[in-house]
Amino acid sequence: MQLEFFGAAGEVTGSCHILRVAGRQLLLDCGMIQGGADAPARNRLPFPFAAAAIDAVALSHAHIDHCGRLPLLVKRGFRGPIYTNAACADLVPILLRDSASLAMRDAERAEHTEPLYDLDDVEATLKQVQAVPYDTQRELLPGVTVRMREAGHILGSSSIEAWVTEAGIRRKLVFSGDLGQYDTPILQDPWQFESADLVLMESTYGNRRHRGREDTERELGGILADAARDGGNVIVPAFAIGRSQELLYLLAKHYAEWHVARWRIFLDSPMAIAASRVYWAHPDRFDEEATRLRAGFRGMPPLPNLTLAGTPDESRAINNLRSGALIIAGSGMANGGRVLHHLKHNLERPECHVVIVGFQAPGTLGRQLVDRQPEVRIHGQRIRCLARIHTLGGLSAHGDQADLLRWYDNFAGHPPVYLVHGELPSSEALAEKLREHGAVATVARPGLKIDLADSSVMARD
Ligand SMILES: [Zn+2]
Repeated sequence: MQLEFFGAAGEVTGSCHILRVAGRQLLLDCGMIQGGADAPARNRLPFPFAAAAIDAVALSHAHIDHCGRLPLLVKRGFRGPIYTNAACADLVPILLRDSASLAMRDAERAEHTEPLYDLDDVEATLKQVQAVPYDTQRELLPGVTVRMREAGHILGSSSIEAWVTEAGIRRKLVFSGDLGQYDTPILQDPWQFESADLVLMESTYGNRRHRGREDTERELGGILADAARDGGNVIVPAFAIGRSQELLYLLAKHYAEWHVARWRIFLDSPMAIAASRVYWAHPDRFDEEATRLRAGFRGMPPLPNLTLAGTPDESRAINNLRSGALIIAGSGMANGGRVLHHLKHNLERPECHVVIVGFQAPGTLGRQLVDRQPEVRIHGQRIRCLARIHTLGGLSAHGDQADLLRWYDNFAGHPPVYLVHGELPSSEALAEKLREHGAVATVARPGLKIDLADSSVMARD
């Protein structure tokens, strides 16, 4: 029995690990590599395993850096089941269809290059998705039983417990998936595990502390007050899934207090609109506050001034508004999508505000904004950045160092931990902290193999 790391080891995107037990192979996620000029080429490389030889996939959540190469896996011969929870299974089609459209557009632009995958590959992939309920053990392969637990990251995000058995040896692994912050709006907190022989853990913000949740909400209210005074627009590049719904939720929650009525709010993203509908269709995953507030929601959050801009014409119409518009649009890292048009129209105007609410990978426009570049390029055009840029770290979908340590500290007996899904400085900083907490912590690197039968790498009794 063996665990091998392929992707999201030493970096944040491209999550993919493989569990080999009793002659079978289970893939944990199969994500897209994102950000950086070489990402498209790296995504096209052959997998370091035979796709057809994979028996099943366990998918932690619907973000494209976790599920984005599943259609490629299918295109290259994978025919097995893709197991995930029901909410994730409802979100995956939205993300993968969008991903295929982007791939097809990219290929057209590059001429002659075959797209990474197309819509047919996605439809074939979706047929292989099987929903398994949260909190229930399920034998996925002989010798591999898993249970999905809440990860509190986006709707339908899970940490995966896996019990593996081979030749009389039994081990329990916990794969964190992406972990949310405690007290994230709408969602329940990450599940508190008590035991594991080995832990695989994300480390996106392993070297950072977010602002507290209440401070963050207050800060957002303050930004909106400043922006109203300055008289421009507010642009929020937001991931279609997660931050968009959270923002709408906060605007609804603080509707009176923040004078939200004075804004015209636009959710300018067909994907975010579709994802919002999935969110509101899974109230069983809500936390107590959201469950309470939902009583008055009747579907979407009660925002009378919210416009769902589905069509390109509805999106273009927003460009005519010079003030009073609060625009939530994708992509979340501003490396494509409708938000580029809004940034082009508003970045050069000092009275406008841009609010960055999520992680921005190196090489993306969002990262350039966070780094306060005086000038950026959008659609080949040079744009000066005169608008005020705010980085609202506290709204991140990822827990910070304190959250990650809190999650780990629930385990009894300091199980050994392998860190994935983080840039090296972040993973190394978290590893250092975990060692202070008594763990044997290792930053995983692509190609690293762990022999799970070897008791010296496992938790000591
Ligand atoms: Zn994620």
